[in-house]
Parts: sequence; C-alpha cells; structure tokens
Amino acid sequence: MKNTTMVGFGELFCPHYCISCGKVGGIICDCCKKNNIVKNREKKCLNCKSTVLKGICSDEGCRLRGVLQVYVGGRTGVLKDLINLYKYKAVRAAGGVLANLFADACADKIVKGFTIVALPTTGQHIRRRGFGHTEKLAKLIAKRLDMVSREKVLVRNNKSVQVGASEEMRKMQAELAYALGAKFCAHEKYLLIDDVWTTGSSMLAAQELLVRNGARNVAVGVLARSNHE
Ligand SMILES: [Zn+2]
Ligand SMILES: [Zn+2]
Repeated sequence: MKNTTMVGFGELFCPHYCISCGKVGGIICDCCKKNNIVKNREKKCLNCKSTVLKGICSDEGCRLRGVLQVYVGGRTGVLKDLINLYKYKAVRAAGGVLANLFADACADKIVKGFTIVALPTTGQHIRRRGFGHTEKLAKLIAKRLDMVSREKVLVRNNKSVQVGASEEMRKMQAELAYALGAKFCAHEKYLLIDDVWTTGSSMLAAQELLVRNGARNVAVGVLARSNHE
C-alpha cells in the first residue's frame, strides 16, 4: 500500500515522456505502444521461425517443438529502447511496461498453473548494474499475471559470460551454465523468463535441463527475439 502511494507521488512530480513521440504521461503512450509494438506481434517460432499455433511450434527437428513459447516481438524500435532502458539504465517504469506487454502476449496462450522462473542473471551483470534484471522482471510478470514466481529453481554454475565466443563455444558454455537449484520440484510446470532470445543457447540449455530432470512441463518466455540471424 505504502509503496503504491510513493510511486504515485514520484510520477506526479517527475512525469515521464513517451520515448517514441514525446507526449507527457507514461514512458510510452498507448498509441505508440499499439502502433509500434502490439501491431508487430509475430507468430513465428523463436528457434526455427516456422509458424506457431497458440505459441506452440510443431516443426519436427525444432528444439522447441511442443514447447510453449511467449514473446512480445522482434528486438527493434521502441521495444528495443524499452528493454535497454530497463536493462542498462534500471528505469523502473520500463520494467512495468515490459511486464504488461509480456502479460498481453500471454493472453491467447495457456499459462495458468506455470511457476515463473527467471533465467539467473550473471553475477557480473548484477555487479555492474546493481540489480538482477531477469529476476526482477520475472517478479513483475508474475504479479501482472497473478502467477507464482520462484527463485532457486535454477542456479548458475560458473562465472562464464557469453561474449564473442563461437556458436559451438556458446552452446557448450550454455550447457554447463546452469544447475538445478534447491527449490526445483519435478511436479511443477515452469515458465522460464529471459530478456532477449539471441541464439537461444542459454534458454534451450536451461529448458532441457529441467525437462531432463523430470519437470512436468517447461515453457519459455522472453521479451524479444533478436533480429540477429
Ligand atoms: Zn507516444
Ligand atoms: Zn520451432
């Protein structure tokens, strides 16, 4: 209760300007949100780019075949700006808008009963930026969707960060990057959350690790799909 009031006062005295058109109000106005983000929603698989139905890819040979996937859109334009503001500048309002956009993208999919789990942020990122952005995002999304979020289901194994490594190296590092946490429970269904899908190696490694250990169902969710091919 107290918190809500504080945020309200903060916004009263420091109004936001729409990062796209400059209009006073929220960090992005409804019009720009609709025209620059919601309209660009895609129905293609994060991994193989074939068409998905209700967030499910049925392409044989795709590592996401039969796995529920949710994302807001391509990492471009205003969506990219919002993600950068949230991730690198720790702008709180951007996190809230992104969580809303993600919740909207869940509307036509069956996410009920999943427990939300963040792909753990690297220690290096937390030290540099001062917060675990995926953990915070997972909490915001859980709140919007009235779902449960849980920490320590997945933990980081080492300090390796994916920078400039070859695709083969990234895949190997990704497979070694995560381990089951103390709160993992095979009876649960998980929705893994990360900010951007680039090669997908981290998310796929984490998803497959939980499935291999008997999790009932493991879905993947990201804010955006990188345009990098
Ligand atoms: Zn605007
Ligand atoms: Zn696919």
